[in-house]
This record gives sequence, structure tokens and C-alpha cells, in this order.
Amino acid sequence: MNSRVHQGHFARKRFGQNFLHDDYIIENIVAAIQPKADQALVEIGPGLAALTVPVSKHVDHLTVIEIDRDLASRLIENPFLNDKITVIEQDALTFNFNQLADQFGKPLRVFGNLPYNISTPLMFHLFQYANIITDMHFMLQKEVVTRLVAAPNSKDYGRLSVMAQYYCQIIPVLEVPPTSFKPAPKVDSAVVRLIPYKEKPYFVNDIKILSRVTTEAFNQRRKTIRNSLSNMFTVEQLTKLNIDPSLRAENLTVQQYCQLANSWN
Ligand code: SAM
Repeated sequence: MNSRVHQGHFARKRFGQNFLHDDYIIENIVAAIQPKADQALVEIGPGLAALTVPVSKHVDHLTVIEIDRDLASRLIENPFLNDKITVIEQDALTFNFNQLADQFGKPLRVFGNLPYNISTPLMFHLFQYANIITDMHFMLQKEVVTRLVAAPNSKDYGRLSVMAQYYCQIIPVLEVPPTSFKPAPKVDSAVVRLIPYKEKPYFVNDIKILSRVTTEAFNQRRKTIRNSLSNMFTVEQLTKLNIDPSLRAENLTVQQYCQLANSWN
């Protein structure tokens, strides 16, 4: 049998389709999410409903965002779902999540087995809505989870670590082998829980500047910040902030990046 065909659907590579088919893993993910009846749950990339159906059993209503037109039609017609589900056929990368929070009048709980090709931009997109999101549970490449939780002074620590840790508390939940998916991806996966801070540990005046500092620093991560941040800060400014100019991007803490962002003008 063709390994790309699952439940009569030909998995589309361009949409990062790897469908979960492992009941034990599915049960564990649903248990980690702990969906409750009156909550505003939103699934990104429901696909063939491996998570959608079990989550829907716990809630009054569920909103799903699916880019693949064929899968969106199947979801609308699914007899186990159609009285509970709203299917939004759209690219989640361009979706305005404020619209849903306004509609429900409550913060959102977002989850999904994300298409790996867009998981990082999608998380950056969602961080913009951190103030209207209670939590997020995502299946990601294990390597991305490692980067999300990485501490300074390691090769995994990068722009994603700094920005994600600025917005959220991050808790790895579960590791998932390739055999749990059809077709099996080439990499290991892991589920992670991201909880946006109600009160962030570090204050930043303008998030765009934090975004710029981290981009400039990590785009040239092998250079010392004296060089990589020279467009934004003089050596004197760095020294005045007690930040050693001979450090590299990976040596700075989230707090130091926030300090830098707040001192730029
Ligand atoms: N949730 C299903 C499961 O666990 O079996 C499917 C997961 S599959 C890894 C990713 C899903 O996201 C697919 O259904 C794919 O069509 C959908 N998808 C891909 N890109 C998307 C996008 N930009 N916006 C919304 N959905 C997308």
C-alpha cells in the first residue's frame, strides 16, 4: 500500500502532512491538553481529525483552521464532528486570532500537530496574540522543542529561544517517534506546552526592537556582539549596560536582550 495514503487521503508534502495514527500518543496528547466543556479551543491543521475527534468529546464547541480544501470538506462532513465544529479554511499564518477571542469573549486554547515546514513562523505569528491565548500545545520536531527551551551558552539557544521565552513559560510534555505518523517523518517529534505569561518576567518597551536586536545578533552568531550589534550599539553603550562586548549572541540571557532593546534609541 502507498505509504502516503492514509484513510483514502494522499498526504500532501507541501502542507507538511504527517497524520497521527497512534492511539496511545493521541490519548496522551489529549490528556495533556485537558480540554474542558466551555473553553474556546482552536486546532491548527486538524487534518484527518486524529486529535479533533477525541478533543471534541470534551468540549461544547471546537474551531479548526485547515488550509487543505479537501480535508476541510471532510471535516465539515464528519458525522462525529459536524454539530460541534467550525471549520475555517485558511492559512493559519495569516489568520487573525483576535477575531476568535472577540467572538467567544474569552481567551483561546490553541493546539495542533503542526506542519513542520511552517512551525517556527507560525509560533512567531501566535506570539503576537499572546495576550489573548491561555495556552498552546504543539507537536513539533523534537529539535525545535530543544531550541525553544534552550538556555544561554548552548548551540541550540537562538532567536527562537529568546523570543519564545520572553513571551511564554515552556514545558516539554512528550516525545513521539516517527512510527506514530503516516507517512513517518524522518525526524523525532515532541509535544510542548507554551503558556503565555500574564505578567512577563522582563519588560520591553517595544517588541519590534527586541525582534531586531535578536535578529542582528543571531544572524551573525559566530561574531562577538561588538561586531554583530555594531549597527545598533557602540562598545561604550554595551559596557555601560554591563554587557561584555566580547560575548557572542548565544552568551546573552533573555533579560540582557530585553535590557538592550529598552536602551536602544
Ligand atoms: N492534526 C492531524 C494529525 O495529527 O494527524 C494532521 C497534522 S499534519 C502534521 C498538519 C496539518 O496542518 C495538515 O492537515 C495540513 O493540511 C495542515 N496545514 C498545513 N499548513 C497549514 C497552514 N498554513 N494553515 C492551516 N493548516 C495547515
